[in-house]
Amino acid sequence: MFEGHRLIGIGEILVEFVSHVKNCGLTQIGPFSGPYPSGAPAIFADQAARVGAAVTMIGGVGADGFGHTTIARLKQDGVDCSAIKLGGRSTGTAFVSYYDDGMRDFIFHISGTAADDFSLPALPEGPLLLHVSAASLGNPVLRNLIMTCARQVLDHGGKIACDPNARPELMRDDDARHALQEIMQEAHCLLPSTSDLPYLFPDLPLEQAIERLAQRDGLTVLKRGADGATIFADTRIDLPGYAVTELDPTGAGDCFCGTFLAELSLGTPILEAGTRANAAGAIAVTRRGPMEGNSSPEEITEFLAQQSRFLEGAKA
Ligand code: ATP
Ligand code: MG
Repeated sequence: MFEGHRLIGIGEILVEFVSHVKNCGLTQIGPFSGPYPSGAPAIFADQAARVGAAVTMIGGVGADGFGHTTIARLKQDGVDCSAIKLGGRSTGTAFVSYYDDGMRDFIFHISGTAADDFSLPALPEGPLLLHVSAASLGNPVLRNLIMTCARQVLDHGGKIACDPNARPELMRDDDARHALQEIMQEAHCLLPSTSDLPYLFPDLPLEQAIERLAQRDGLTVLKRGADGATIFADTRIDLPGYAVTELDPTGAGDCFCGTFLAELSLGTPILEAGTRANAAGAIAVTRRGPMEGNSSPEEITEFLAQQSRFLEGAKA
């Protein structure tokens, strides 16, 4: 359905610092590692390019060490960075700390940094698929840019994919919620995760929220963390999670979306695209750093081969 499309990522490009101390809610002095290249739209674009899709990233970084290292990484992985502004402001940053139950606290610095200081380029030629990671919509400047870009892409006959990525700390106001609703209505492919459902359907219990997703027109993929993913296309496809040791789950959803949409743009059938995305998401959580979990097609193929050898061994 997206075969031959160029993917576009738009929004915050950040570097992230990961706390090695758990359960402290970013209140304590302690060791961190970073700067890890990050920002949900950038992680998405990086993974999609690694998988082999044509990908353009629209955003901004500062002309500082954080910005240079992030651009170098995206370029190395094959992302077209010609629409990334290298600006006068400092690169945006994020800090994250985990709890034992997998919950996490973020502190973001996006507003007023290079991450929300860029303008829209002329759209690339050819069929386009714009991916919106909707947490970006919580920032008024990014929201305006993304909504304008989405309308331009639709006017040019392009398509929209959306990961609601409903981080409450980024999406407090009504304007963000309305923008998300508008994007979701237009989305040819919607890729929420289970953790987005209470935000998207505050009045519905989980199972009813999933029913609601199943009834939606178009392609919908529910990311279920350790439980894998479910695709609602012509039929429902449940993809069980792969057993891995989770070290750092941040970015797994963006990596999943990048893999899935890139595979579809390369003409891979939905079941195989979903299987490879499910594997890429599982690989992502085993590595510390949001973009460090991204993987090559060879690594995904090898992971799947290992999993099937493991299953064969278990049967024997
Ligand atoms: P984020 O927004 O933090 O990037 P998300 O909430 O959008 O993530 P998740 O559902 O947490 O998305 O993860 C995306 C995909 O990664 C899952 O659908 C699954 O394929 C894989 N995945 C995530 N966590 C695990 C895990 N613990 N074990 C195996 N696979 C996992
Ligand atoms: Mg997500």
